[in-house]
Amino acid sequence: MGRSKLLALSILLVSIVSSLVSTHLSMLALQPKLMVIEWILERVNGEATANAIPSEDDSMVNPSYKLLPFRWKVTAKFWINPSNKYGFSADSVVKAITAAAVTWDEQTSFQVFQYMGVTARSAGRYDGYNVVSWGSYRAGVIAVTYIWYTGDTVIETDTRLNKLYKWSLSGEPDRMDVQNIMTHEFGHWCGLDDLYDDKDYWLTMYGYASLGETYKRTLGLGDILGLQAVYGK
Ligand SMILES: [Zn+2]
Repeated sequence: MGRSKLLALSILLVSIVSSLVSTHLSMLALQPKLMVIEWILERVNGEATANAIPSEDDSMVNPSYKLLPFRWKVTAKFWINPSNKYGFSADSVVKAITAAAVTWDEQTSFQVFQYMGVTARSAGRYDGYNVVSWGSYRAGVIAVTYIWYTGDTVIETDTRLNKLYKWSLSGEPDRMDVQNIMTHEFGHWCGLDDLYDDKDYWLTMYGYASLGETYKRTLGLGDILGLQAVYGK
């Protein structure tokens, strides 16, 4: 091989390698961070005092909320995988989950959510689809929301309902209510964080849940103020 050919080949190789490296670096820069928000079934004994829970529903006068450090800057288009082992029809699952999304959308002029349809995809994978589905997760966690973000901008959000637990569409006493849990989880999609003070018990973003509860299906004052702090009235 002549010297000039060798030189040309070397230049070609160097340019290929450098373009591969720069492509890889730009992909790394685009790779979002992940926050996983687990919803723990019950408080750990002694973690908080139960006597501070208001005996009557004061959610319409409690202005508490806490914001996550990132938010959706565009409408969150989401898909539902209605596949379940509880005998729920796909339509009834879609109805409960979309009702939870509408509950937030009714309180702001910004369109936070847009339901796109059913899917066979699973929640918990960074795949360009915002998905709600049942799936496996460790005991003690009712549901988990995955938020992929870059800076203060959310890129993708998924929620997985733990199929280890029994679920209900109608608030049955020994089961987790789908709409109740999803209203809270969609609050995370809206950019709201959990509240763990007992005084915030009656708010949708209160960070604990119990079997059969349905009161988180409706928003309290703090939930609405938090939503509007992110998206406006
Ligand atoms: Zn939560």
